[in-house]
Amino acid sequence: MRHFAVVGSGPAGFYTAEALQKAFEGHARIDIIDRYAVPYGLIRFGVAPDHQSLKAVSKRYDKVAESEGVDFIGNVTVGRDVSVAELLDLYDAVILAIGAPHDRKLGIPGEDLPGVIGSAEFVGWYNGHPEFADLDPPLGGTHAAVIGNGNVALDCARILSKTRAEFEGSDIVGHALDALDQSAIRTITILGRRGPHQIAMTPKELGELGHLEAASPIVDGADFPPVEADDALEPGQRKSITILREFVATPADPAKPKRMVFDFFAKPLRIEGDGKAERIVVERTELDEKGAARGTGETYEVPASLIVTSIGYSTPPIDGVAYDERGGKFLNDGGKIGDRLFAVGWARRGPTGTIGTNRPDGYEVADRIAAELPPGGSSDRPGAQGLKALLDSRDVLPTDYDDWRKIEETETANARLGSPREKFVRVEHWLGTLGR
Ligand code: NAP
Repeated sequence: MRHFAVVGSGPAGFYTAEALQKAFEGHARIDIIDRYAVPYGLIRFGVAPDHQSLKAVSKRYDKVAESEGVDFIGNVTVGRDVSVAELLDLYDAVILAIGAPHDRKLGIPGEDLPGVIGSAEFVGWYNGHPEFADLDPPLGGTHAAVIGNGNVALDCARILSKTRAEFEGSDIVGHALDALDQSAIRTITILGRRGPHQIAMTPKELGELGHLEAASPIVDGADFPPVEADDALEPGQRKSITILREFVATPADPAKPKRMVFDFFAKPLRIEGDGKAERIVVERTELDEKGAARGTGETYEVPASLIVTSIGYSTPPIDGVAYDERGGKFLNDGGKIGDRLFAVGWARRGPTGTIGTNRPDGYEVADRIAAELPPGGSSDRPGAQGLKALLDSRDVLPTDYDDWRKIEETETANARLGSPREKFVRVEHWLGTLGR
């Protein structure tokens, strides 16, 4: 029997567990360890609450969690409760699947003013992430801005624009729903440092903006190259640009009180305000020969009392694990960090790709592990038994599959507004449900 520890229970962790199960055909015990008592990482805390169809992928992970040889061990933080070196003593291989939960910084003056919030924090707040339950984003002003032209920026802008009714059937947490319902924000400016052809937004997500109940997308045709230039784009990107061009051609609906303004070729220089964010000073850009944003020297101000920066994420370093500072991920070669130590998902590749991208990624690393530790072989490492003894000696109380189900059942029972569930937003709530 082989013992594997998968650290992190998001998509990357679950696809890797599934792949290891297949590769080792009943000759492996796989422990999926998470710092929280409930699994699924990005699916629970990252995917937008109004994108329930994307969250449905967790059904596949349920099957893995319920299968023979796989255990969920929650409420254990690797790097604090147990070190990676200790896990390597206990298990045949350790696979780090901890994602990239930290916001990248813009590195401009004023970024630390109150009112400037990273998208991981903002998304975490409306998704019930316990670290961000008290974020209390300022929604009392009329202007907000989102910096970045990726799908996360789009998620944040859309959530800011939606009405209470539009959240029906979502699993947005109650505190965010109530706060957003009271929001005074009427203009949401999405700032991109490059142009429409360089966006990282996908067609389905962009298309949703055309059907918002209270907001109209506003796009300036002057930002676009001639339409023939679209022919050179790859098909998905061409579709996105076509949608943006449709927004150019559609006048703002006077019945909708909110505006979602795309401001392209706009590079934030600094954030200003009297003790809190009030405006972003932006420099107009153009594309240089390599397609990068080059400042033109022309500056202007974008008013905003809430500024969400959505410019990518990084993986937090863990003691003793080689780290790539520039890439914001573990230093690895095709998923291998060192002897019996691997990384998958965003912790391996950096924060790009869809949920599905993690599947081939996890399978590739599992194949590599199977090549190094031939299936059928065995070791005398103790796996979960040893881990539990070590945690016990440190007074750390792990949770298991039954605990997670109990928490989810209670959440579902608490649901309101036609929501799939009313998520708990604090670790104490989860543990309280378990009588701890
Ligand atoms: P992303 O797609 O990498 O987009 C990051 C954006 O930030 C880019 O527009 C980038 O512009 C901009 N940026 C980076 N540094 C900047 C700076 N210093 N100043 C101004 N702008 C800056 O990242 P993401 O939106 O966080 O998404 C992460 C991954 O999750 C992506 O693969 C995304 O597609 C995926 N995702 C998918 C969905 C969905 O399918 N519904 C939803 C959410 C996320 P440049 O291009 O100029 O660098």
